[in-house]
Amino acid sequence: MANPSLLILAGDGIGPEVMAEVKRIIAWMGQKRGVHFDVSEDLVGGAAYDVHGVPLADATMAKAQASDAVLLGAVGGPKYDKLDFSVKPERGLLRLRKEMDLFSNLRPAQCFDALADFSSLKKEVVAGLDIVIVRELTSGVYFGEPRGIFKEGNERVGINTQRYTESEIARVAKSAFELARKRSNKVCSMEKANVMESGILWREVVQEVHDRDYPDVELSHMYADNGAMQLVRWPKQFDVIVTDNLFGDVLSDCAAMLTGSLGMLPSASLGAPMANGRPKALYEPVHGSAPDIAGQGKANPIACILSFAMALRYSFDLGDEATRVEKAVEKVLADGVRTADLMGPDGGTPVTTTQMGDAVLAALDASL
Ligand code: NAD
Repeated sequence: MANPSLLILAGDGIGPEVMAEVKRIIAWMGQKRGVHFDVSEDLVGGAAYDVHGVPLADATMAKAQASDAVLLGAVGGPKYDKLDFSVKPERGLLRLRKEMDLFSNLRPAQCFDALADFSSLKKEVVAGLDIVIVRELTSGVYFGEPRGIFKEGNERVGINTQRYTESEIARVAKSAFELARKRSNKVCSMEKANVMESGILWREVVQEVHDRDYPDVELSHMYADNGAMQLVRWPKQFDVIVTDNLFGDVLSDCAAMLTGSLGMLPSASLGAPMANGRPKALYEPVHGSAPDIAGQGKANPIACILSFAMALRYSFDLGDEATRVEKAVEKVLADGVRTADLMGPDGGTPVTTTQMGDAVLAALDASL
């Protein structure tokens, strides 16, 4: 059987730096675990603009559609800030998400014990935290029509429309229930059914999908404002949270900060299953291209490494290998290895991006 295909789009700024460490881990998987991928690489964002005049060439888009998974670094940078909106680096990423129809955005918030002091919350509130927010990514108020700024009498009015169809709600609910079955089997759905009709429909459809296909999963519903409060009060009460595009945008950033540094946060965006049963999938760190530290060897590669671990788990059914990578990261952190973004007030000497990669590889070797 052919190896699964993996398209790497390293992008701009620290993207190529953190991706270089992931490539070493991919090579390690082949050499030491017999897990092989057909890896190809291409350009996205400013790097693509420099060569093709667009942030994502059609040929790259086609490659992404044909790949079993796409792994992306980061896009953007000051060099491209003055470009027309239509060719800005971020448009490349948006095109990938839109054309691959990646409707389910998985944002884990996991707090490694060694970093519990980094959270702005008390250590006992975050230590051992492991939750995932599933955000609907392709519909809702960011896309609904009508939208725009209109003249009404002698003033302007800004309009955005929250709109969800039953099928859009059902497919993201299904993805949350499937995920919960691989974890602690618990889903909390968040909306504002008390004040929004789209929220009433959301609640009804999530409940229907549950009752029909996932009665074994524990389901609860919560108003999103209470959800925000509960996330900072006692986040460990959750396992999987499923919510719409707007609430998910806000709640996932809030949950992310429970864990400390941006350099630690992976994500996955999943779509419908392809002919081979694998979902369309894009994996990327949550952080951007960090122009302030690009080219200096200071970037933390862990978010990108953990994004690859998510690919192992969710695209390739290699949960054991994903856990192996996650445990290696955990060990490295427990041993006190830190890039600059993870240095506490006590100081110490930070390692470089490559040294962090070295440490993770050594921990992987030790796991054999
Ligand atoms: P950013 O995430 O790039 O950086 C925010 C801060 O976090 C910076 O101080 C940076 O040094 C630090 N940081 C981020 N990742 C880090 C890592 N791995 N290790 C250590 N420190 C890290 O956000 P920004 O500064 O608002 O945006 C910079 C550029 O990235 C902009 O062009 C923006 O549009 C783009 N951006 C891209 C994405 C993406 O590709 N998905 C996401 C956000 C921002």
